[in-house]
Order: sequence, then C-alpha cells, then structure tokens
Amino acid sequence: MIISMKKGATKEQIENVTRAIQALGYKPHINQGTERVIIGAIGDERGKERLSNLEVQPGVEKVIPILSPYKLASLETRTEPTVVDIGLGVKIGGKRLAIIAGPCAVESQDQIFEVASTIKECGAHMLRGGAFKPRTSPYSFQGLQEDGLILLAKARETYGIPIVTEVMDIAGIGVVSEYADCLQIGARNIQNFPLLKMVGKAKKPVLLKRGMSTTIDEFLMSAEYILSEGNSNVILCERGIRTFETSTRNTLDISAVPVLKSKTHLPVIVDPSHGTGHARYVAPMAYAAIAAGADGVMIEVHPRPEEALSDGPQSLKPDEFKTSMYTLEQIANAVGRKI
Ligand code: PEP
Ligand code: MN
Repeated sequence: MIISMKKGATKEQIENVTRAIQALGYKPHINQGTERVIIGAIGDERGKERLSNLEVQPGVEKVIPILSPYKLASLETRTEPTVVDIGLGVKIGGKRLAIIAGPCAVESQDQIFEVASTIKECGAHMLRGGAFKPRTSPYSFQGLQEDGLILLAKARETYGIPIVTEVMDIAGIGVVSEYADCLQIGARNIQNFPLLKMVGKAKKPVLLKRGMSTTIDEFLMSAEYILSEGNSNVILCERGIRTFETSTRNTLDISAVPVLKSKTHLPVIVDPSHGTGHARYVAPMAYAAIAAGADGVMIEVHPRPEEALSDGPQSLKPDEFKTSMYTLEQIANAVGRKI
C-alpha cells in the first residue's frame, strides 16, 4: 500500500503514520517528493486491507494499493527519477549522462592506467574493469582478483575517476566494497537472490545487469531484492538478450530503455559492448541508447584490443572511443542531456 501524505503534513504526523505502519507489521519506506511525502508500506500482501484504516490519521491524504509486484522500484511508489550518487562528483540519473568506459578485465597497471588516462581525457565519468571475471570456460583468464582491485583503486587515485567492478559472490562483497565506488552484478547473477539481498545490505551503489534471458519484469523484481534490503542506489543496465540471431553476440534490447522508464524511477544505462560483441557495432548502438533515453552507456575500451585477455573483439581502441564521444555529445544535446 502507498500512504500519500497531504501537502504540508508535519514531521510529527509523518512519524505517527510510520509508527502505525510498523505496528501493523509492515516496513515503511519514506519517499520525500518535492510536493509531498509518500510512504510505502511493504510486507505481506495478506491482510494489507488493515492499512486502509490509516486514511483517518491526521495528515494522510489517501491510502492506495500498489499494483505493481516490484513495489519499491515502481513509479507508483516514487514518481521522481532516482539519481544515484557514485561519489567524486559523479551522479547517474540526472540531466548529465554517465559515460562508463574501461577494459573488460584489469590486466596490468600499464593497461588500466593507459585506459583510465585516455577515457578521462575524452570526458568519460567512470572507469570499469573486471577483477573477478565470470568466464564461460574455467580455463579462460579469471581476472587478477584482489590485485586487480588494488590497481583499479590506484587508477582512481591517480586520475580522480570513480570505479565500478563486478562482485561475483557473497564472499567477495567485503573485499570489492573496500575498493570500488560501485558494485556490478553481472548478467549471470541476475537471479542469484542471496547475492542480491547481500548487496542490498551493502553501503555501495549497485549496477545491476539484465540477465541474458530475463524479462523486464524479472529484471525489476531482481532490483526489488536489492531495494527491499534498504539499498536504494540501484542502476539498471541493459546488455543484450539471447535470441535466435547469431550475427551479434546478444541482441541489444534498446526498447528496454523506454519500457523500463515507463515502469521505474531507477536510472537505466546500456552496455553496447556485450550487447553486440563486435567493436564496429558498439558506437551506433551507444548512440541509439542515448537517443532512446538511457541515462548513460558502459563501453569496453582497450589500448590494444588484439592483445586483450577477454572481450578483445568488442573493445574499442582509444581513438575509436574518442571519436564516438563527439557524436555521443551531439546526440545528448539533441535529447536535452549533457555529457
Ligand atoms: C562485464 O560487464 O564485464 C560482464 C561480464 O558483462 P555481463 O555480466 O553483462 O556479461
Ligand atoms: Mn567483457
């Protein structure tokens, strides 16, 4: 249920309603809008009618059932867009787009420093790079693990750019949180519910990637797992889904952007690198993503893609990334956004 407070409801009235929600066995989630406060009462669907009685409490305007199964992620509970503060001056979900770039995997100090310096110079806002890599084959490069995190943190210090990196399992949350500004949950973990719950308890923003066969509603239910544990800083990332098409690694679902935007207040970004699997398709799909209303893009960049230990074929060279940034900026301006 959503308890919509009257415009100008007092702090005391809001506290009283919050206490009443708790007394009925529900968890209150307060959303401070520009005009009014909306309180979501989250809990067992059965018996929720009892919450209707709150309508008589002073300061309450209306008690409305939440229709969506993803209550906290839904636009019903919060109508204003969520802006996630990553730190170091980077925010995702506002007028300014978030351009995240970096190699698939951290390979060496030279490699990550070279990329960090290039992308920063080109105007990117965040550095990506996997230290723990989910690889299809156990014989493929698995990432530099904690050494990779240390290199990422060094790059952040040297270039003043925040970092996002993947956490693959519950055991890794502690160490990844120590170094990263944002925790990435990869496509393969989209329905690893214990992991989602645990990052929900973490104090870092979470970049949640859509699974390769996850519907939009399932994607939002996964985000809900994180939100329901108290972490409201979730960024959704469309990265392509499995279809019958084999010309691209995945089929990048650009329509997911406006569809998600019609259902949730959470920021939505797009990863055209994993979405297409081929460097030559990355820039056009990044442009399409921004034109479709995405809040940012995540692009793989490697100084020498031919030597990359993972995802070389889909990685842009520094000069290709630089060129794409010019066009991205023009498209951003055309849709009323900034880089
Ligand atoms: C990645 O971004 O490094 C990655 C492994 O992507 P995904 O989880 O989308 O396959
Ligand atoms: Mn990759």
